Amino acid sequence: MTIPFFSFKPQTSLLKKDYLKVFERFIEDEYYILGKSVQKFEEEYANFSNTKYCVGLSNGLDALHIALRALEIGEGDEIIVPSNTYIATWIAVSQVGATIVPVEPNIDYYNIDCDLIESKITSKTKAILPVHLCGQCCNMEKIMALAKKYSLYVIEDNAQAQGASFKQQLTGSFGDINATSFYPAKNLGALGDAGAVTLNNENHCSKVKSIRNYGSHKKYYNELIGYNMRLDECQAAILSTKLKYLNEWNKQRNEIADWYIENLNKCDKVILPKTEPDATHVYHLFVIRSEQRDELKTFLEMQGIGTLIHYPIPPHLQKAYQHLNYKIGDFPIAELLARTSLSLPIWPGMTKEMVDYVCDNIIKFYSK
Ligand SMILES: *Cc1c(COP(=O)(O)O)cnc(C)c1O
Repeated sequence: MTIPFFSFKPQTSLLKKDYLKVFERFIEDEYYILGKSVQKFEEEYANFSNTKYCVGLSNGLDALHIALRALEIGEGDEIIVPSNTYIATWIAVSQVGATIVPVEPNIDYYNIDCDLIESKITSKTKAILPVHLCGQCCNMEKIMALAKKYSLYVIEDNAQAQGASFKQQLTGSFGDINATSFYPAKNLGALGDAGAVTLNNENHCSKVKSIRNYGSHKKYYNELIGYNMRLDECQAAILSTKLKYLNEWNKQRNEIADWYIENLNKCDKVILPKTEPDATHVYHLFVIRSEQRDELKTFLEMQGIGTLIHYPIPPHLQKAYQHLNYKIGDFPIAELLARTSLSLPIWPGMTKEMVDYVCDNIIKFYSK
């Protein structure tokens, strides 16, 4: 059996006819930029997220960047971010010239450790930027309480957790301006690059819309130096088609995760992912941990099983951030996760037989 780390096949066979219809209509409409499809998807995704507004954007990194820009965060401002995130979170902060203040994750949940945030807050702190990593919602109750106490903005990085929640409230609806990504392999993915912000404040919404379109609300009248960060009209129509299945696909991901946990509970050599009480998980990634991670990865590869490492090098040790002069040992939990994490295949349409095959081989590896 070969099991790829990720496969679009089940989605494609379900939706190919719809994709072709979308594309046909898109060509015939002859309205290719910021037209009806973007507006329709924005309404639908705001509705899904339980927010007043959604603004469609070019990708997830731009969504984080525009959120920071719209809140007028820049040089001299400190932003609290997790030490163990995809580098996009850090890059967005760098793009506006603000200062990155990394905070270690909780070792059980892999999300920012909310109990470590307060000691990092200074008079320069402007925002907390939590990341709902792997698909699990952060403890937003603690984060929002801190934000309120110190008058800080909150920007959620919701690229990996569309549809997850904390105490029944959905990701992307807590913070001031919240970013998400529709990179193809995300839980809701386009057929190319795409992203969005979700928010409730009308002024912020208007500012984001201006910045994404050259700093302009009215054609050829520019109120600020903006960007071109527009969501593509065709991708918006594809996203509308796929949004209808997001809850069902998240349910399937949870089912697969349950099968993994049930099978691998027997194996005391692997550490399984845990979900915080009051949080829900949409398993963008199913990450196990093992001291023999690299040997296990190679073994599974030989059995035809694709796995990935999210992420092999934490941001503070990336060459891109060498100017910050961090060294090994500065963020030991992020480093431990980078050294021991292994993401197993998880995608809608993956069968129980496939999960059993992966688990059997993991158990076989450890019984050698
Ligand atoms: C994917 C991702 C992003 C960036 O999204 P792009 O659309 O690829 O720019 C940002 N943050 C996290 C946590 C991500 O997983």
